[in-house]
Amino acid sequence: MLHIATPLKAQIIKQQHGWLIHTPAKLNLFFELLRKREDGYHEIESLMVPISLYDTLVLEHDRTSSEDFRLDCRTFSPNRRVDEVIPNDERNLVWRAVLAVRKIRELPIGLRVTLFKRIPSQAGLGGGSSDAAAMLLLLDQAFALGLNKQELWDLASNLGSDVPFFLLPLAQIARGRGEILVPIQGLPRLHCVVIAPSVGLSTPAVYGRSRVPDQPQSLEPLMAALRVGATNLNGLLWNSLEPAARELSSEIDRLAATVKLTAPLGQLMSGSGSSCFALYGSARAAAHAARYLAGLSLGRVFQVNTI
Ligand code: C5P
Repeated sequence: MLHIATPLKAQIIKQQHGWLIHTPAKLNLFFELLRKREDGYHEIESLMVPISLYDTLVLEHDRTSSEDFRLDCRTFSPNRRVDEVIPNDERNLVWRAVLAVRKIRELPIGLRVTLFKRIPSQAGLGGGSSDAAAMLLLLDQAFALGLNKQELWDLASNLGSDVPFFLLPLAQIARGRGEILVPIQGLPRLHCVVIAPSVGLSTPAVYGRSRVPDQPQSLEPLMAALRVGATNLNGLLWNSLEPAARELSSEIDRLAATVKLTAPLGQLMSGSGSSCFALYGSARAAAHAARYLAGLSLGRVFQVNTI
């Protein structure tokens, strides 16, 4: 299903010397593995929601430069993980997004991109995917490339399974390997605390260790509970990748046990981890829990809401 509206595009800000966009993180409120495919990917069903935790991308065009393209990465996090290096070459999806666009459209030389990272990486929050989707939209807008919805979707899904979601960062159900998306309306704003532990997890490693359940969990009860504003979401928030992630990192268990002490409406690991999130009944309750959790050296703690 192809749904690409303009919300993220609408957030592109033209500045004196370039263009700027804030790119959101996501949470998976539900994640089920349906089957392993021949191509090595898994068929999934997931409820994905964008949250108010952002990276920022700035695109400038230096007409005097003979350099093709330059990517600078800066991080805002004071307590960034020691192992967390944001690459500024083809390992970065932003870089690959530029290369991919260049294959189908002419781009000027002298492109300078600065990526301000706030979203922790290897955390299941989709930061790299969100940056890549934003880069596609920035290039399209800045240089009037006229990329149509299908071209954007093709570029995004070739870059990664989560990238198409960020072309339209609204609550969406993701199927296929994550690229087939159905927007969801009528979900209330959720008040969340996200904790990214000091150890990240590799997505292929977590998928590689995971097991497709014999009986897949249904998304419907969670959707119904969210729509009526249910106050107990335990058992409905669901992530089939969590057991594999727990095997790879003992931090997940520790985190889950500590978060439980704050009596959230529900809690879960996001995507392939390693970050976990908890939902609360109000911004005030989330703020209270975030303050408590931030004092425990669990990792980076963010108080956010769904957008
Ligand atoms: O698509 P992406 O490059 O983000 O996927 C990274 C890895 O995660 C894949 O190589 C695969 O091992 C795993 N994956 C999967 N099924 C999905 C998405 C990702 O097995 N639906």
